[in-house]
Amino acid sequence: MIVMLNPKHNQQLLAQSLAELGVTAYPAGANRVMIAGNDADLANRLAQLPEVLEVVPVARPYPLASREFQQEDTVIQVRDVVIGGSKPVVMAGPCSVESVENIVDIAKAVKRLGGHVLRGGAFKPRSSPYSFQGHGEEGLKMMAMAREITGLAIVSEVMEPDKVALVSEYVDILQIGARNMQNYPLLREAGKSMKPVLLKRGLSGTIEEWLMAAEYILAQGNPNVILCERGIRTFETATRNTLDLNAVPVVKSLTHLPVIVDPSHGVGKRAFVRPMARAGVAAGADGVIVEIHPTPDQAMSDAAQTIDYQEFGLMVEEINRISDVLHGTREKTVVGV
Ligand code: PEP
Ligand code: MN
Repeated sequence: MIVMLNPKHNQQLLAQSLAELGVTAYPAGANRVMIAGNDADLANRLAQLPEVLEVVPVARPYPLASREFQQEDTVIQVRDVVIGGSKPVVMAGPCSVESVENIVDIAKAVKRLGGHVLRGGAFKPRSSPYSFQGHGEEGLKMMAMAREITGLAIVSEVMEPDKVALVSEYVDILQIGARNMQNYPLLREAGKSMKPVLLKRGLSGTIEEWLMAAEYILAQGNPNVILCERGIRTFETATRNTLDLNAVPVVKSLTHLPVIVDPSHGVGKRAFVRPMARAGVAAGADGVIVEIHPTPDQAMSDAAQTIDYQEFGLMVEEINRISDVLHGTREKTVVGV
């Protein structure tokens, strides 16, 4: 259960009262603690304490992320971009930041063609230690330069807890990659940073594990979590991963957090990125993140799944049209399935 505390509560008195009741409370952001279980009698007794404003019973193992705790959708504003509102957000850019010229050219294309956020990896999680690992802080500087020129917000991956402060100095949104979905020290640090966090689903992460990962960030008092379905590993080998579009309506029924899809990593093949971006928005996603490049075959990483500007422009037009069709007629989210 979530125990909402009186902002003026006395910490010592609270600790004493909780000890008398024999419960362990976990911190869960400002003026909030979490207590395991939903015992009605205990909830009643807690509600009587002068330090307590309200006790919210939640059955899910990710209480703060749950729809039971917050019915209305979380809407996150990053610069002038609204994520989780009525319009799909479009994040696009290269897999890896390559050079200033390249990232500025891409940023201009993202802006011109209707995108909102520039993506680009500076610290890259590569399967091989011999592959290009990204330009690191230099790459972040290049991203910041592209933001300066275009006004686009920027998102980039952070892989280590110790790098959260550094990456936060540059980016508007911290990306936590699929391979780090269950890196709990990293999630905690990203939570403390209070920066919006784009949390990708792990390659074999269940929806429940993914939402519990989001809970780690929320429990630090950072409410700005964007979930990203990026494909899961299945028996299928025709595509790099299997973009789990079941997850979009399911996750939106379970949580109030915005959900976007990444069809680039989801399919791994450029020809299928646009159709699956369309499908993601049709399934109710709040936006997409895709890899684009002026000469995709020459991209330094993930070339096979990277689309060119023309394909990106078509994709943006199509998902906007799909969103317009759904807008107003979109079925109300089914809560608590
Ligand atoms: C990426 O966005 O380039 C990336 C490495 O994504 P993921 O963590 O989903 O594999
Ligand atoms: Mn990539």
